[in-house]
Amino acid sequence: MNPRVRFAPSPTGQLHIGGARTALFNYLFARKNNGQFLIRIEDTDLERSKQEFTDQICESMTWLGLTWDEDLVYQSRRTDSYKETIHLLLQSGNVYRCFATKEALDKKREETGSYSYPGIWRDRNQTDIDTELEKGSPFTIRLNTPEEGGTSFNDMIHGDISVAHSEIDDFIIARSDGSPVYNLTNVVDDHDMGITHVIRGEDHISNTPKQILLYQALNWDVPTFAHLPMILGHDKKRLSKRHGATGVQSYRDEGYQPEALLNYLSLLGWNPGTEEEVMSISEIIKKFDLSKVHKKGAVFDEKKLNWISGLHLALQPNKDILSGIRKISVGWGTTKSNDFCNGVIDLMKSRSKSLVELVDQSDYYFNDPIEFDEKALRKSWKEDTPNMVGSIKQVLDSLEDWNSDTLQETMKSFMEENDFGFGKVMKPVRLALCGTINGPSLFSIMELIGKDASIRRIKHALDHL
Ligand code: GLU
Repeated sequence: MNPRVRFAPSPTGQLHIGGARTALFNYLFARKNNGQFLIRIEDTDLERSKQEFTDQICESMTWLGLTWDEDLVYQSRRTDSYKETIHLLLQSGNVYRCFATKEALDKKREETGSYSYPGIWRDRNQTDIDTELEKGSPFTIRLNTPEEGGTSFNDMIHGDISVAHSEIDDFIIARSDGSPVYNLTNVVDDHDMGITHVIRGEDHISNTPKQILLYQALNWDVPTFAHLPMILGHDKKRLSKRHGATGVQSYRDEGYQPEALLNYLSLLGWNPGTEEEVMSISEIIKKFDLSKVHKKGAVFDEKKLNWISGLHLALQPNKDILSGIRKISVGWGTTKSNDFCNGVIDLMKSRSKSLVELVDQSDYYFNDPIEFDEKALRKSWKEDTPNMVGSIKQVLDSLEDWNSDTLQETMKSFMEENDFGFGKVMKPVRLALCGTINGPSLFSIMELIGKDASIRRIKHALDHL
């Protein structure tokens, strides 16, 4: 069917989770159906829109790998098309000039108690209009909304939606300074860009009937609409800054990998219908089905994001992880060989949710600990500990063949001979070696950092603790 879809952000801030999900679903739909994915920058609000936000949004899109197919379209550069369309509409008689002043409208509102436009200029004769035009009176332009019946559309996600025309007044399409309103620019752009499917947030459902009336007034094909469910915070309220980080940039800064974030975003309002939720982008494209997107709001669950992110990291080749790390932490591991860094990544990648976490938690591979987890010390470093650790040091000192297997055997026999429990021995040794009691297999850590460093660290702990 070769659809053409677009993501239409307003550049008033960085790309947030909700926008990224909308962009992703457009992208998936286009790639799945051999279509095109475009970006339109909705920057008609000149005060709030900034080029730097457009640049940031595009950078985040590129980082995520959501590549678009044609040059960016900027609404601010399309004024002529909007003017021309307004002109066409005036000629066709589907819109009319309204010279009602604010005072006159306020008065009517007070009388009727209704905010709907009371149709004052709807069927005025040409003489009245000419008189006002000659006087140079300001006017807005309003759509001649049909009075009878209603407007319906079949939303790909929400099904049939209808609104009675009695609920849609003759809304303004151009303000008194001639500038077009949002609903008009949106329709003109989607038409001119050849958009076949409008995939956007559910908050735009209420605009859709008005936009359809405009397509019809212009005799243009109406695109198919798909309104995506809201993204909610854990309290089931619409996701916002209150809930913590919502910007794509902050996830990037925290070292999340784009594949993982995309995978998680794809599950906000959709699922592949199978158990397997960890997917590469090409698998997601293969499985994606826009008509299976849920209506119900999707809760943004950071724990699930971290889980998915950790699984992605564990599946990544070490060399990609290393180059990812070097992008966020230039000097990481440069004091050691690449083999050593690979060893660290092997041990840590299945234990970290992001590259930043991996970096943060791997300091002890490169540096002897100078600080020790106090809580763990209180629990595991007892009066008789130095004696025991001292004996272990002696045993390790005489170990010739230093690898995780021999280390495990040696420590095991030490425990058995002395009738020590595993925790009693391993926790203080781990504390001495790493400064913390969390981490992967201690024998593997010891093999990696080597005999000299291991003995040195134990000695240091014995001298200082
Ligand atoms: N600029 C609108 C928004 O950010 C997009 C509307 C649309 O996609 O039609 O919500």
